[in-house]
Amino acid sequence: MPLVNSKELFEKAYKEGYAIGAFNCNNMEIVQAITEAAKECNSPVILQVSAGARKYAKPVYLKKMVEAAVEDTGLPIVLHLDHGADFEICKDCIDGGFTSVMIDCSSKPFEENIAITKKVVEYAHAHKPYVTVEAELGTLAGIEDEVKVEHGAESYTNPDQVEEFVKRTGVDSLAIAIGTSHGAYKFRPEQCTRDPKTGVLLPPPLRFDILEEVSKRLPGFPIVLHGSSSVNQEYVKIINEHGGALKDAVGVPEEQLRQAARMAVCKINIDSDLRLAMTAGIREHFEAHPDHFDPRQYIGDGRAYVKQLVKHKITDVLGSNDKI
Ligand SMILES: [Zn+2]
Repeated sequence: MPLVNSKELFEKAYKEGYAIGAFNCNNMEIVQAITEAAKECNSPVILQVSAGARKYAKPVYLKKMVEAAVEDTGLPIVLHLDHGADFEICKDCIDGGFTSVMIDCSSKPFEENIAITKKVVEYAHAHKPYVTVEAELGTLAGIEDEVKVEHGAESYTNPDQVEEFVKRTGVDSLAIAIGTSHGAYKFRPEQCTRDPKTGVLLPPPLRFDILEEVSKRLPGFPIVLHGSSSVNQEYVKIINEHGGALKDAVGVPEEQLRQAARMAVCKINIDSDLRLAMTAGIREHFEAHPDHFDPRQYIGDGRAYVKQLVKHKITDVLGSNDKI
């Protein structure tokens, strides 16, 4: 099966109340971990590439690795551009064989966001085969590669704007801001309460009222959540016990993501959790085997941790297992 766009995957996900994982990839081991996990869970999957990943690995390597994963697994895989900053980068990716792109003009005024998104949609939809487009309304706090928004400068999506935005742009899916945030430090300690037993921060709940309102205004329309790593504390603990120093790293609780996946959310972006799992595997390996110097040994352990994490996400959080 060749790479697919996200249209039919989202239609089925919406109807059946699950979400598809959009995992960021930067190197071969991460691509293998994600797609082998998806294969074992019989799940569709989105591999997404940010501007930072393109800079690190070069677009041609990323594209060929994803094609290799398609050939190796036979899965329906979407190759998606994460946070395309302008028309040019989206066009570049569409011309280069991506099957889905995100145009992110969420930091620009409403009319400008509409104008640029519409231009990308017209180009993508005229392409053969059809390329799907995601846009964003509202802004998330946190840091993701080139996207940086200070805590306090974020804004929730205004449900009064979504219908007009989707109608005028013709976009295929919409990322909204309901309290998720980019990076492994999603919330400031003062936004959270602290678990008295473990000392771990408990984040503020997502704004399900906004999600509900948006889905009422856009029945059947796929919604996307960015910044949706859960910062699983088992990995933070392994990292900190093996020489790391991640203080107060906190994410979105998995049960809240599961709830969102049952509603209109069809795509959930996960990046930081993969990085944490990879780092946990490598740190543990180095402490247990200080004499090792073959990268296959320690990166192999990192890959095994990422695979285990992705299987858990697919089965226990996204609900996309056995959906092929
Ligand atoms: Zn994002």
